[in-house]
Amino acid sequence: MSKIVKTDEQWLEQLGPEAFKVTRKKGTEYPGTGKFLNHSEKGLYVCTCCQAPLFTFDSKFNAHCGWPAFDQSIDGAVEYIKDHSNGMTRIEILCTNCDSHLGHIFDDGPTETGKRYCVNSLSLSFIPS
Ligand SMILES: [Zn+2]
Repeated sequence: MSKIVKTDEQWLEQLGPEAFKVTRKKGTEYPGTGKFLNHSEKGLYVCTCCQAPLFTFDSKFNAHCGWPAFDQSIDGAVEYIKDHSNGMTRIEILCTNCDSHLGHIFDDGPTETGKRYCVNSLSLSFIPS
């Protein structure tokens, strides 16, 4: 599968400035502000850039960290790379299909997967089921 590649101008036009900054420039939305933070409808969370399915509603949990959290992704939907920014070593998570920045993954999840996918609401769109 080949990745979706667009210019910054094309992404900016499609996404608007806020989502562009987070998804294409590895930004982070201000904690506690995301539209999906307390969102608990049934459905599918997809990449806001390319609409690839990323997370199902039943993997979402409330991590009280200020961002939407999931305990697993849809198989193959997410790529993991080491991120050394801001003086920390973290694992960044990206959309496999278009390299959109989603957030970071941590090993302190409370469910049986032990994972916490900490994702910016601005990186997601939602399709109700
Ligand atoms: Zn994508």
